[in-house]
Amino acid sequence: MLAIKNATLVMPDHYIEDATLLIEEGKILDFGRRITIPQGAEVLDVDGAYVGPGLFDIHTHADGEILFTDDPVKAASTLLDHGVTDVLPALYYSMDADAYVRAIRLIRSAMESGKANNIIGLYMEGPYLNPKYGCNRESNPWKGPVCREDYQKVVDEAGDLARVWCIAPEREGLDEFVEYAKAKNPRAVFSVAHSEATPQDIARFKPYGLRLATHHTNATGTLSRYPECRTACVDEAALYDGDMYTELICDKVGIHVDPFMLRLVRRIKGDERIILIADALVAHGPMPDGELYQGADDINFDFAGEIAGSKMILDGPCRNMMKHTGASICQVFRYASTNPATLLGLSDRGCIKKGNIANLTVVNHRFHVLHTVLHGGIVKQN
Ligand SMILES: [Zn+2]
Repeated sequence: MLAIKNATLVMPDHYIEDATLLIEEGKILDFGRRITIPQGAEVLDVDGAYVGPGLFDIHTHADGEILFTDDPVKAASTLLDHGVTDVLPALYYSMDADAYVRAIRLIRSAMESGKANNIIGLYMEGPYLNPKYGCNRESNPWKGPVCREDYQKVVDEAGDLARVWCIAPEREGLDEFVEYAKAKNPRAVFSVAHSEATPQDIARFKPYGLRLATHHTNATGTLSRYPECRTACVDEAALYDGDMYTELICDKVGIHVDPFMLRLVRRIKGDERIILIADALVAHGPMPDGELYQGADDINFDFAGEIAGSKMILDGPCRNMMKHTGASICQVFRYASTNPATLLGLSDRGCIKKGNIANLTVVNHRFHVLHTVLHGGIVKQN
């Protein structure tokens, strides 16, 4: 048994101070202010630090230096050191079908090895996105018509590991792909990504479980017929629909999403529909010269000088969200743990509850990770 004492427990809407939390066989056994620690229990005294549900990154390609598609065990372990107890490695549409299959097999075998126990599925960022948005535009292997022969082996290989499928709803012939993917894994969620879909295009896919907007305000169109007028496109549809979750890449300077936009999204979506992601990639392009990106050492650039994801791990976006919007530790744990678990229908994690998997992240008041607990075992101790 493990007992965490002197904890400030982070609940979905309040804190429990001076608390103790007991863990047995990888699950939360009990918690509260009047808990007796059984004799013989291993004790972790966190000295008042915040103990929240484990961070959950549904969308990241790397640990900042190593891609999951190169070394999933290494990347997963770095994330664990930063408090990420659950992750869906993201597989980008720059891969053709064979590369997708190889990547899925590599990650599946890492999961089966028991050396990457925080990987719990895959985030399929593709294959059918709008080639106009995002990097690798020219080399996008999925530019052609939607064709079963192309996607079938990717969908089959991913099977029930595919927790999220990204689509650009405006692409022609997408219905059969979505139906096929849904049949393979009925639990999968669909997300609008790299797209210039209209709200009507998006609404068409709602019955299949489209509930997420991938990196909200990034790689989305504005689609105005009139040069000086903004019209309703992907971002507006995601804001308008109270059911839809919005992913936010929250970097230090506020480049992916402007700090004012972060505050606007918080006001509109509320605490239950925001999901923080790192969306880390590995790109080696130089930062463009000039003032524009000053201080943005946590984001990546490709060789065309365009932004290509971040170098962050999820604790970074949590700190940045607190800084840019004034969100509390309680709220940030919602955005980075509770909401992703709820979106994916995982009721055994994402909040401190008796019987839940004991995945916990212990942070100080500035959201620096002090300890990570995975399935009841302390895996990181600073
Ligand atoms: Zn993307």
